[in-house]
Amino acid sequence: MSSLPSKMKGVIIEKTGGTEVLQYKTDLPVPSPGDGQVLVKNDYVGINYIDTYFRTGLYPAPKYPYILGREAEGTVVKAGSGELYGLKEGDKVLMLSEGTYAEYTAANAAKAVKVKEGLEAKVGAAALLQGLTALTLIREAHPVKKGDWVLVHAAAGGTGLWLVQLLKAVGANVIGTASTQEKVDLAKKAGAEHMINYSHEDVKSKVMELTKDAGCIAVFDGVGKTTFDLSLDCLARKGSMVSFGNASGAVPPVTIGRLSAKNARLMRPTLFNYIVTREEFEHYVEELMDFVTKDKLDVRIHDTYALSDVARAHNDLEGRKTTGKLLLDPSK
Ligand code: NDP
Repeated sequence: MSSLPSKMKGVIIEKTGGTEVLQYKTDLPVPSPGDGQVLVKNDYVGINYIDTYFRTGLYPAPKYPYILGREAEGTVVKAGSGELYGLKEGDKVLMLSEGTYAEYTAANAAKAVKVKEGLEAKVGAAALLQGLTALTLIREAHPVKKGDWVLVHAAAGGTGLWLVQLLKAVGANVIGTASTQEKVDLAKKAGAEHMINYSHEDVKSKVMELTKDAGCIAVFDGVGKTTFDLSLDCLARKGSMVSFGNASGAVPPVTIGRLSAKNARLMRPTLFNYIVTREEFEHYVEELMDFVTKDKLDVRIHDTYALSDVARAHNDLEGRKTTGKLLLDPSK
């Protein structure tokens, strides 16, 4: 494509901190696609909690200045060299890539796929990272079976709503937690038959009442620090405690002997280690898209923010004001 600009809009950080370190720029260089990469003009960029970890320094950025972002939907505008998995100029793609808080991203073709016919751009951008996370968690972190009792924290959040819908689709009994009545109603509508508003209900006693004192065979906990002990308390004997995030802060070191009380499994998985190979990535994308289309999953978009309004988006996410997915529109 001959008409590519040399400068683009984007959001960088030069140091870690609060939302004040997010810098909206209009003169960042448009990257060149290298070996195994395609240059993508982003239509919609997914916001994920992990972006806040890089901003605060909980996870170290590989370099500074650093463009945040991990996923987007857009159009291939230039092909790099090497293995591109059949991607070419003009293809609409969904991708997992660093540096997506920008108009253009040089993305690893191995983690990009063509958008399925009929899939709305916003839905695709909202689906990939959180949907794949939820899917790999219920398939591999704890392979959930029909009839299993499962506890999901932050059930009305982005990843939470995916977990709830996928768990319902595989026939699990879902117990969710949330902080407000609005969130409780939303997660119930998505398929969490039993919701606990932890602002005024005791989670452990409610879980034990529902499971007739057995507890849940799996707990999916993306809240982290504040819920870890509670999650272990809610676990069934021989259950899987799946700690997959740090929304409330990192879980402090755990003494392994604590697991013997229930012969529990403890896991700390990340999506990226379930989709290392192209085959793994394609397998889960295919399965996720099947769920979205055949099971008619509702991909809830909380709001679409202008790139220049990224600080408000991070504040809303960290302030627990959101339900479902937050997107950025890089053209604004
Ligand atoms: P969410 O949309 O779920 O937002 C976070 C939610 O966590 C809030 O809405 C809130 O729900 C709950 N929460 C409870 N305590 C706090 C707190 N102290 N501060 C902020 N939020 C709190 O975000 P995401 O779906 O983007 O991410 C959810 C979790 O999943 C994160 O920990 C993230 O890191 C993790 N994750 C992990 C991945 C992996 O590969 N391991 C991949 C993707 C996400 P409520 O008010 O109802 O309590």
